[in-house]
Amino acid sequence: MDKLLLHVGPTTIKEDILIAGLENNVGFTSKEFVDAFSYSLKGLRYVMGVSKNYQPFITPGGGTSAMESVTSLLKNGDKVLVVSNGVFGDRWEQIFKRYPVKVKVLRPSPGSYVTPEEVEEEVQKDNYKMVTLTHVETSTGVREPIKDIARRIRDKVELIVVDGVSSVGAEEVKAEEWGIDVYLTASQKALGAPAGLSLLVLSPKALEVLNSEESIAGYYLNLRNWLPVMRSTEEGKAMYFSTPPVHVIMQLAEAFRLIEKEGIENRIKRHSIVASAIRTGIEALGLEIVAKRPESYSNTVTGVVLKVVEPSKVLSETINEGVEFAPGVHPAFKYFRIGHMGWVTPNDAIVAISVIERTLKRLGEPIRFGEGVKAVQEYLSSAR
Ligand code: PMP
Repeated sequence: MDKLLLHVGPTTIKEDILIAGLENNVGFTSKEFVDAFSYSLKGLRYVMGVSKNYQPFITPGGGTSAMESVTSLLKNGDKVLVVSNGVFGDRWEQIFKRYPVKVKVLRPSPGSYVTPEEVEEEVQKDNYKMVTLTHVETSTGVREPIKDIARRIRDKVELIVVDGVSSVGAEEVKAEEWGIDVYLTASQKALGAPAGLSLLVLSPKALEVLNSEESIAGYYLNLRNWLPVMRSTEEGKAMYFSTPPVHVIMQLAEAFRLIEKEGIENRIKRHSIVASAIRTGIEALGLEIVAKRPESYSNTVTGVVLKVVEPSKVLSETINEGVEFAPGVHPAFKYFRIGHMGWVTPNDAIVAISVIERTLKRLGEPIRFGEGVKAVQEYLSSAR
């Protein structure tokens, strides 16, 4: 049976994207590859909402290496404020603890988010060089109001960094307009490409810091070493620092082609409709969502809280029914996650809710059986 993948990454990959990597003789200096790389750098600016003033980086790795490469902008003794709404926000602290910087972490109660007012209050108390934010916290599905926070703290800290791993390509991102210095993501999430790449854009100010200071970053993740490669490649000339994953970049280029064809606004709208449809179904079944505050519901991840049944049991049963969901990873909740990003469609929302509905009934979770799919159908019949 074909499986529907509603995980939090890797997500389903379109065949055209997979096929774009099926070439047996692509050298890293070939025109074919350099064109794909150059096109991807421009595509990254498009999904991040930035002009040529921002410098894109595409390097081997994923979300975590993109996060750690931000140490390229820090020096000994710098103070960093981490705003963490869950497991991936906490990862910033784990990373910075490995380096000679001072870290303070702000956390909300589980399932909630640190408010813009709280972030503003904290940055006024100390001299922070950098604030890190997580646009969509994948462990809880909670979205942080990045635009509002940036507006309040823009003039009070030197660098604002946003982890957009679960948002870029599915949520509104206007890094330049909002004044964000580093927006980062990974290839395997809402961009719908294979895993294997870190993607970042840096503001002119971040570039200045990168060029002017001796950073605490090591060798491979030091963006200063990658900068000449990005600049040269975008101009159509191959350059070597470390071997690029050529096939994955060819696939990413195809993903950007398809994203541009769809149009980023249409893509965000599609994600928003699918996310609302799924939440409508979950709530109609009488189940609770991990994200506590509706204004923080994300377009990409929904955590479903269970009262009785073990989440691992639900995951193994639903996979037998042809749908793969993701386990919960936040210790405060008994839950599983529905990933709805990338090439997800409204029809996938129907399938997801229908499989959850009948599986939970069979396993004995108290639900309003029969209400889930019906509510999704009603929602989708009028959603535009
Ligand atoms: N940040 C967020 C918000 C994530 O969801 C993830 C991955 N789930 C990461 C960072 C880490 O990315 P990766 O697994 O590609 O290293």
